Amino acid sequence: MDSSDKIRAADLASLQVIKYPDPRLREICTPVETIDEPLIQLVERMCQLMLDNRGVGLAAPQAGVTVRLFAASPSFDPEDLRVYINPRIIEASGTVEEEEGCLSFPQIFTKVKRNATLTVEATDLEGDIFQEECGDLHSRIIQHEIDHLDGRLLVDRMGTVSKLANRRSLKELEAQFDSA
Ligand SMILES: [Zn+2]
Repeated sequence: MDSSDKIRAADLASLQVIKYPDPRLREICTPVETIDEPLIQLVERMCQLMLDNRGVGLAAPQAGVTVRLFAASPSFDPEDLRVYINPRIIEASGTVEEEEGCLSFPQIFTKVKRNATLTVEATDLEGDIFQEECGDLHSRIIQHEIDHLDGRLLVDRMGTVSKLANRRSLKELEAQFDSA
């Protein structure tokens, strides 16, 4: 399926944030080929989900649609919300370790090492390619969301100590998924 097929197959009106260990979170997402009305509807729905859930970022696979795009709003402000289609990091430097959470792992926070600053290149909703240099939380969000597009999750970034500390919460999520 190409990206348009995947978006057409999704029931956009009833999209929800899916949780670990839903296998859709493990897929390598498909590059977006066309920016059309269904894609814009998907983005609108994702932005709404992100804001409703008080998130600062949401990747399409977290809404169950495995295509390469995410939305981010580092300040929680809908005004600075930006959409990144087919994003890639073209430069990154430094390392910083900070606490990180994820809407697909409710209640779990863990320290994750990330690059401190980066330059990301992506396509916007008008189909224009843009580059953005970012640091701090913004840089962390970009790396976290691109991880999602490659099927890589918070749990993969946890150290042994953090995995042990969050063991119960992870087991609870697994049990909830099995009983759903
Ligand atoms: Zn996440």
